[in-house]
Amino acid sequence: MTSTETLYSHYLEHPQVSTDTRNITKDCIFFALKGDNFNANEFAEQALDNGAAFAVVDEEQYAKNERCLLVDDVLTALQNLARHHRKQLNIPVIGLTGSNGKTTSKELINAVLAERYKTFATSGNLNNHIGVPLSILSIGSDVQIAVIEMGANHQKEIELLCTIAQPTHGIITNVGMAHLDGFGGFEGVKKGKAELYAYLKENHGYTFINRNNPYLLEMSNTAGLNKLIYYGTEHGNTIKGNLKSSDPFIEVEWTNHEVATTVKTNLTGSYNFENILAAICIGDFFDMEPDQINAGLAGYQPKNNRSQLTKTERNTVICDFYNANPSSMEAALNNLSALSSPQKVAILGDMFELGPESAKQHELIAQQATQSGLNEVILIGKHFYGFKDVLDATFFETPGEAANYLQQNVMNNNLILLKGSRGMKLENLLQYL
Ligand code: ATP
Ligand code: MG
Repeated sequence: MTSTETLYSHYLEHPQVSTDTRNITKDCIFFALKGDNFNANEFAEQALDNGAAFAVVDEEQYAKNERCLLVDDVLTALQNLARHHRKQLNIPVIGLTGSNGKTTSKELINAVLAERYKTFATSGNLNNHIGVPLSILSIGSDVQIAVIEMGANHQKEIELLCTIAQPTHGIITNVGMAHLDGFGGFEGVKKGKAELYAYLKENHGYTFINRNNPYLLEMSNTAGLNKLIYYGTEHGNTIKGNLKSSDPFIEVEWTNHEVATTVKTNLTGSYNFENILAAICIGDFFDMEPDQINAGLAGYQPKNNRSQLTKTERNTVICDFYNANPSSMEAALNNLSALSSPQKVAILGDMFELGPESAKQHELIAQQATQSGLNEVILIGKHFYGFKDVLDATFFETPGEAANYLQQNVMNNNLILLKGSRGMKLENLLQYL
């Protein structure tokens, strides 16, 4: 059996890890993670046969090969290697969390910083207790700044992720009605997200804050933060900006108090204004010129089903079906209401992980949708279905039933918001729009 020291020095030479036998690269270290439905210990031998240099396992019966390392817990071992690697990297790491807009903000910040620096950003949505260590372990020695998305659905998760990513800079995009079940309501969400502020305070990190958000201000006061950089719509912020247009694409006017400038983006959704301002603020903090910042923002094309405006043969669809929670639904409906198209439709799917608040939150969103002056509101899923006798909308219990309806009632020349929780898989409806 091998030792932790051997593993760490091997990683210095071959900085590649894998948790999936289908993606083994030559000389990588294989971490045999366990999930609800799998135990990768069983595949350790196969990973070694496929070219892995070492396999980290936590069941003795699978540790027969001399290239295996037997540990108490493979996930902890993976996180420890990431902590070790992070310590070797002497670079700023921007830790990013929040209820909504993490991935979008991460992409925008990265698009800006990449205009000047060699950057690394979390790939896709790899933002949990496995994704964050894997992200950290993907940061090469040539990277100058990293942006790490940190997601959470319960207390102490951000605290743990901070010990891995060890952010020197941080940003909470916002706090809202997301993962209410795991966090224990909205107060729980604030407490859980504030773990990033607590880490930054303790480690003398810088914090970027949206001064228009009273919850974030309150949380930063409670945490006793002092290395603060503000952005917002009022004077007195390091970056002051305002939303010049959002119909349908976002245009932002902003100033760093030396230069005033305007940037046109390819994002739709007025809620993206604050995500864009965050990216401007961070680019400015890292000494970038306004032109470089604007070039990064203008060049960013959303391709991830978040705030993505798509023209189909018959309609224009706001593809926002990557996920949904009450806060982002409310923001998306406000945005749809404000757009100038004459024929507007909302097709909304259930929101998950809301615990005891679920019925109330579905009712509020359904009410907002039906009172938004839209031509049609289609609500899909068991949670929305509970309100079918009290609200004036078209209801379906399943996406399949909605698909049949859309095939029979063909829509033309509409602006359609398509949004629901990931599990609703509303992307399957796009072909009928
Ligand atoms: P996840 O928890 O799945 O990682 P996330 O926080 O990374 O989500 P994004 O994927 O960037 O968030 O965006 C998801 C959706 O949230 C968007 O499609 C949009 O509807 C909404 N959203 C994005 N930014 C904001 C914002 N600043 N305020 C409210 N809603 C937002
Ligand atoms: Mg995300």
